[in-house]
Amino acid sequence: MSETPTAVNPTVAAWSEADLGVDGTVLEVVRAPATVLSSVGAEVDPTDPATVRLAADLVATMRVSPGCVGLAAPQVGVGAKVFCVDVSEHPKTRDHHGTFVLCNAVVVSSSRNEKAREGCMSVPDLTGDVKRPSRIVVRGQVPGTGEEVEVVANAFEARALQHEIDHCEGLLFLDRVAGAHAIYQRKTYL
Ligand SMILES: [Zn+2]
Repeated sequence: MSETPTAVNPTVAAWSEADLGVDGTVLEVVRAPATVLSSVGAEVDPTDPATVRLAADLVATMRVSPGCVGLAAPQVGVGAKVFCVDVSEHPKTRDHHGTFVLCNAVVVSSSRNEKAREGCMSVPDLTGDVKRPSRIVVRGQVPGTGEEVEVVANAFEARALQHEIDHCEGLLFLDRVAGAHAIYQRKTYL
């Protein structure tokens, strides 16, 4: 009997930063060319209290940043494989999981390449056209419980997840554009 993954993982969809049990602190977002942004993040223990605090800080920092749909640890100066995502307020969103944080996340499968414009708080003056799969399966761990979860993500959420996983691998969207012709000066921040 084969198991078809449902579109939305209920554990991840039900998660909120309140589950972390600690208040996050808003941190300063570092900008390119900070070395931490081009370094591969370290794997973390998702049950370590330091990881839980980092998760809370990432969500708190994302919340105060207009238009921010995701933030990775290297963007707050921490070389670790942790990121948060929340695309629920974005106009291009279809189905999504709301706010969640993943540790040590990897893309386990992907399909349907699609090109779209991306921006990044760590590269505030530029945007770029990046081709990425629009349907992916990501595996990672939930901070705090350490529970291993699989997330099937589509469209804009899939893009946001890949952008954040890239940050944890020391890659920016600028490393993914087809060339200088695919980079643009940002006119408005959103
Ligand atoms: Zn970014």
